Amino acid sequence: MAWSNWSGSVTANAAVARPQSVDELAALICSANRLRVTGAGHSFMPLCESGELIVSLDDMVGTIHIAADRRTARIPAGWSIRRLTAALWEEGLALANQGDVNPQSLAGAMATGTHGTGVDLGSLATFARGFELVGADGETRWCDAATNPDLYQAQRLSLGLFGVATEIEVAVVPAFHLAERIEKRRWAEVRESYDELAQQHRHIEFWFFPYSDDVILKTLDPCDPCDPPPTTTDMEEASFRRILDISARLPFLTPFLQRLMMKSGISGRRRGPAHSIFPSDRTLRFEEMEYEMPRSIGLEALAEVVGWIRRKRLPVTFPFEYRTVAADDIWMSPMNAGPVAAISMHQYAKMPWTALFADAEAIFRGAGGRPHWAKRHTLGRADVAALYPMAGRYVAVRRAADPHGKFLNTHMESLFA
Ligand SMILES: Cc1cc2nc3c(=O)[nH]c(=O)nc-3n(C[C@H](O)[C@H](O)[C@H](O)COP(=O)(O)OP(=O)(O)OC[C@H]3O[C@@H](n4cnc5c(N)ncnc54)[C@H](O)[C@@H]3O)c2cc1C
Repeated sequence: MAWSNWSGSVTANAAVARPQSVDELAALICSANRLRVTGAGHSFMPLCESGELIVSLDDMVGTIHIAADRRTARIPAGWSIRRLTAALWEEGLALANQGDVNPQSLAGAMATGTHGTGVDLGSLATFARGFELVGADGETRWCDAATNPDLYQAQRLSLGLFGVATEIEVAVVPAFHLAERIEKRRWAEVRESYDELAQQHRHIEFWFFPYSDDVILKTLDPCDPCDPPPTTTDMEEASFRRILDISARLPFLTPFLQRLMMKSGISGRRRGPAHSIFPSDRTLRFEEMEYEMPRSIGLEALAEVVGWIRRKRLPVTFPFEYRTVAADDIWMSPMNAGPVAAISMHQYAKMPWTALFADAEAIFRGAGGRPHWAKRHTLGRADVAALYPMAGRYVAVRRAADPHGKFLNTHMESLFA
């Protein structure tokens, strides 16, 4: 059966198995030579690709267990962020932060360092407190900071290399409401005042079409649940789709079309439970590269890439997304050297992206960036070793956990074998 990722850029001719219990999962792992586990398949890199077997936890039921102190919850690892945040809400709880969509599985999002935005808020992996894993030998193990600590440190950003996570203990916070505000601002003004704006809002990000001098600024702030219900949004996806399709056929029109689109009134207001305000729908397929830059040079790096696109009049049809993520101490996290600015570059899935991303990547790498593991990059083993001081220990834990390389695929071998 053919498997494909969300954007359609990665496919695999592998069997897809959906075990219904931990015993079935263990039996599958024991009988396979090689396998990869998948969540929602939202990664752009070939993380889940396998020539033999892809395992999905979609049919493993499970329930959520809230700790007596209500500070952590044990959650089935294959549950989507959508499902788990709805279940937490029922209990009066929430995740402190989320990314901009919610179909991803909890395990898949943590395994790649998936993040939202916020000056002092870390990636989802920083919320993990412990993992239950079925290992390459089919045995179930628990790991946390005290039990199997090396396995835990590696598993916090695991890329699926250490076993199949079946349950994850996650830090949770009391449920809260958010107010979203979207507005058009001058790029020059946002560039000048970004640090100040970032201090004023719990979450802030902006979208930047490279041929416009305006950006779309989005902020999220806690609000009173009794405040008035949602008002309006003027962001019209149908017209964006039309513009993308014209750009795909006539790429030279891209600069004109983007400026035209940004002339329209862009504004929006929403309010509601945090878990329903964090995510947006993404129905237009794109390919994405993201680099995490030292925060102090993030805006400069973005300006450099946009300047290069403008000079060369390159047909980059999607906007850049600019977010901030707090520092962490996770071995393979691109946030482990300090707070970052996360710069995402997208291209419409119907248009060429390889050469564009390669040139932009050189700019990001040159400025000291490290890539998001799930999004397009061209790192190899030597780059990983040079960029990550803990890479040797990570690989040693991988070898001990999976001596026969059961959880490797070609891409993982090129990075960690
Ligand atoms: C539309 C869209 C929006 C996105 N928005 C954001 C965003 O806001 N912020 C951000 O940082 N990223 C974002 N991403 C990237 C996305 O969050 C990551 O690709 C994430 O890993 C996807 O989760 P998934 O469940 O689809 O994982 P998959 O892509 O299916 O798998 C990712 C990795 O997790 C491993 N894995 C999955 N399940 C398990 C398990 N049970 N045990 C062990 N390993 C496992 C896989 O083997 C693989 O290595 C976005 C991607 C898309 C397509």
